Amino acid sequence: PDPILRPESTPEDRDRALRPQVLDDFVGQAEARANLRVFLQSARTRGEAMDHTLFHGPPGLGKTTLAQIMSRELGVNFRMTSGPVLAKAGDLAAILTNLEARDVLFIDEIHRLNPAVEEVLYPAMEDYELDLVIGEGPAARTVRIELQPFTLVGATTRLGLLTTPLRDRFGIPTRLQFYTVEELDIIVSRNAEKLGVRADPEGAREIARRARGTPRIAGRLLRRVVDFAVVEGDGTITRALADNALTRLGVDGLGLDGADRRYLSLIAENYAGGPVGIETIAAALSEARDAIEEVIEPYLLQQGLIARTPRGRMLAQKGWAHLGLPAPQTPGQ
Ligand code: ADP
Repeated sequence: PDPILRPESTPEDRDRALRPQVLDDFVGQAEARANLRVFLQSARTRGEAMDHTLFHGPPGLGKTTLAQIMSRELGVNFRMTSGPVLAKAGDLAAILTNLEARDVLFIDEIHRLNPAVEEVLYPAMEDYELDLVIGEGPAARTVRIELQPFTLVGATTRLGLLTTPLRDRFGIPTRLQFYTVEELDIIVSRNAEKLGVRADPEGAREIARRARGTPRIAGRLLRRVVDFAVVEGDGTITRALADNALTRLGVDGLGLDGADRRYLSLIAENYAGGPVGIETIAAALSEARDAIEEVIEPYLLQQGLIARTPRGRMLAQKGWAHLGLPAPQTPGQ
């Protein structure tokens, strides 16, 4: 539903021209950026592989982009794969043995690694060694292969689903946060410039305000607003044009889409504001529980529209207000 607001990537998003290429062009995530700058510089100075790095946080916040920037800043190759793609231990072994010294290996959705593959990763991360079993039955033997030192960059939207041994092997765990409107404003304005489109400051601001704290969504909304500006305006993104376009796309003033509003309305109207369990919500909305927890809830929580309690999800005061409904006198009862 409402694919324009989903933070998962689509082919259209893989627009290389808009991706920041170096750390200095990366807007936001100030703390993560400052730390990375030190670790990158140190690794370069020592001529060693940088420590393994884990990025976690909701989709579309720049995990892949930062991993690419790391390889560029280190002057090494960037290799990319993902947890679900690595079906067998041999798939990972093939990639690892092909790495050159200090390369960055990016594994997206690393919480979805098959346990047999994960086993191979432990000695590789720790000692740059690979234990391969050759042959079968009584003739089987283990061969140890030395790997080039490399940097594993893992990305996950679900830190809680990572096994402890894997999590412990990352020297640099980094949480990415939702972006502020000011940061998204800079990103939207820069992207408009790169696309060769005129955007009024208030026009860019309106898109930033309604991008759900997520650069990927900001990029996508900008493209659609450009379409409206070209066809129904004079090519300039004004505040009125952006507002009109975004409203027609089903994006409300806070950046919520239909799925977000259905989630809030469900708790308000069917469960008197909650608490209600995640499984019940997933069943009622016909959405996968994972998608609700990874995509819908983080932003609603961050905005203070809902709260998570041991007994389930509850609508917060701000959630009632956003729906234009009066909050019950004793909230949550
Ligand atoms: P993730 O891997 O976390 O899902 P990506 O790194 O693929 O997110 O980023 C999603 C999109 O948002 C990309 O098109 C990227 O260019 C853009 N983007 C992400 N972070 C930034 C940023 N800080 N500044 C500008 N663009 C960004």
